[in-house]
Order: sequence, then structure tokens, then C-alpha cells
Amino acid sequence: MEVSRWVIHVDMDAFFAAIEQRDKPDFRGKPVIVGGDPQGRGVVSSASYEARQYGIKSAMPCAQAQRRCPRAVFLPVDMGKYRQVSSEVMQILAGYTPLVEQVSVDEAFLDVTGSSRLFGTAEHIAHQIRRRIKEELGLTASVGVAPNKFIAKLASEEAKSDGLMVIEEEEAQDFLAELPVTHLWGVGKSTADRLHRLGISTVAQLREYPEEVLISHFGMQGQHLYRLARGQDDSPVQPDGERKSVSHEITFAEDTAALEVLRATLLQLSEQVGQRLRAYNLRGRTVTLKLRFSDFTTITRRETLPEATDSDEPIYRAAGRLLEAVKLGRRKVRLVGVGVSNFDRTGQLALLPTDEGQRPPLDKPLDKLRERFGPNSIKRARLLDEQTKQ
Ligand SMILES: [Mg+2]
Repeated sequence: MEVSRWVIHVDMDAFFAAIEQRDKPDFRGKPVIVGGDPQGRGVVSSASYEARQYGIKSAMPCAQAQRRCPRAVFLPVDMGKYRQVSSEVMQILAGYTPLVEQVSVDEAFLDVTGSSRLFGTAEHIAHQIRRRIKEELGLTASVGVAPNKFIAKLASEEAKSDGLMVIEEEEAQDFLAELPVTHLWGVGKSTADRLHRLGISTVAQLREYPEEVLISHFGMQGQHLYRLARGQDDSPVQPDGERKSVSHEITFAEDTAALEVLRATLLQLSEQVGQRLRAYNLRGRTVTLKLRFSDFTTITRRETLPEATDSDEPIYRAAGRLLEAVKLGRRKVRLVGVGVSNFDRTGQLALLPTDEGQRPPLDKPLDKLRERFGPNSIKRARLLDEQTKQ
């Protein structure tokens, strides 16, 4: 039984656009779009709620946004200003717990399990945070409170905009049951399509499938789906200063010595690691491969790259080289992990993600890998597609 925790997810509402509206009263109540030049090829970084009524969303081409709403105000991205406001938000959050994990410029998780003696219940803390953000910064945040990160994020989403939602452990099952499977972490369009073909469109329907069956259909992602459908997520809130590495590992349902399986798994893990690095604005130099064998002996191998990276492909290539160098012999592998550490913090400023935790599609790892490995990789690439289109 997991120790019960309280996690808060804070997500600023239409962050960049809201800052512009705050700073220029003329823009209030109007559709405001922060992003590229509508005459050029830029995309929307952030759209005010007035603009969203026209169906304008982040990552949409600005030219298209302008066609949808010709009277919208278009403003360039002023990242220096948003970063300043972001640090003011994070300072407020840090007042309630040292366990604050900033996931993007406008979003953070807090573990407030140990904060109640000083500040009251998690719900009370969430109210205070929202009030202080409004009073001190003139902005609104949507806040979710729940026993883990996964549910807290769903709760803040549900609370949008300018709202607060608390989901207690006992309520989580009912709350999740009604959600479409696309709300689960890691379920992109292609996984959703495959689930739909199995007749699964809600979390309740997903729960009817035993874990082994999900694993047989979705590989290791099946395990993940099984757990999320039950609201299980034990990932810790990791404060940035403490984060020394980003890693993912997976235990096979059945131990394997098949190189093809190991390599496909490395690719998948490398993509997950790359995705996390990009979300956290971290670039690392050292790639670590971890293998645990059937007899539970564990080895780790490291390679240091010439330059720090947050891209899937160099991580995967290094992990692949490390695997090749291990003399597997007849040993079967029980667990495989990929990690990146030795972070370079100087390159972070230019890499802040856009608003709403979205990132422009900078990385096209699958396309590159398909090019590299040719048509034989297509099946494997399709499997991996599930993991990346989130
Ligand atoms: Mg946001």
C-alpha cells in the first residue's frame, strides 16, 4: 500500500496572453494571440480565452488564426517578461513546500504531504496559492489537488479556467471511469485508435482488460495503461535542484535475450527520456544504460557525449553502442533502463517551451530513424509511435 500523498498541480491560464492583457488594459476582453507574425509562418504560442472562442489554439499557424478571427490582436513572444513572471509564480509556490517541480514555464507540481501542519490541508493550500497569484500577480491559475501527479494534472485540466478541483483517493476511480482514454498520460492518437479498435474508448472499458491482455496488445505500454486506468502513479515530485538525472526503465513481462527487442526498447526509453528532458529544459552529456539480468545482477554502462543533448536520437545511439559493448552471452535481461545526466544548464534559456506546456515539433526522431534504418524499421517505428505522439 502506498503512503497517501497530496500533490497539487498548478497551471497558469493562457499564460503569455494573460500577462499581455494584464499589462495593457486595452487588450482586456479582446482576443489576444501571442506568437509568430500572422503574415509569416509562425504559430500561436498562447491565445486568450476570447481568442479560443474562435477555435484558436496553441500550435495553430498564426495565418490560420487570423483567418478565424481577423480582429484578433497579434503580439510577439516576449520570453524575457514571461520568464520573469514565471519565476514570481514559482516563488509563491516555493513558500508552501520545497518539493516544487516546474514542468514548464507556466506549470508546476507541488508535493504538500508534509506541509499541512504549517499551512493547513492541501485544499486550503491550493486556495491560498490561487488567491496569492491573483492578488500579487494579477493572473489566474487552475489548480488540481489529488493523491498523485497524474490525477492532479487531470484535476487542474478539469478546473480550467480559473478554477480549483480536489479529487480524493476514494473519488478518483469514479472520476477516471468516465474519462475518454485519450486523457491518460502517453495515449496519443495512434494508441487511441488501437484502443478504439478493441472497443475501448473510456477508462471504465479499459479497466475490464486484464494486465496481461493489455501487455500482449501494447507491449510495455500495456502495463502503464493498466496502472493509469486505476489512477496509480507513484512518480515523485522532483524539485529541479535535486534532479541529477532523467531516466526511464522497464521490466519485461518475460525475460529476454533478443537483441531486436532490447534495441526497440532502448529506442522507446530514449524517446521517453528525451521528451522529459525537453519538458524540463534540461540537456545532458552522459547517457547511462542499465541492465538487470534474470539472476538480478545489475550492470550500468556510461558514455559521455561530445555535447549535451535533449534529442532522442543521440541518446538512443549512445544507448545502442553501450548495449553492443555488453557481452550478453546467454544471459536474459529482466530490466532495461536509459538515463541522461551531467546536465548542462547554460543552454537552457533559449529552450523554454511555449505556453500550455506545448512544444513546437522540433524533433522528428521517428522520421530520422526510419530514414536511418529503412523500411524494416517501420513496424518497430509504429510501435514507438505510440510512445511519442503525446
Ligand atoms: Mg497553462
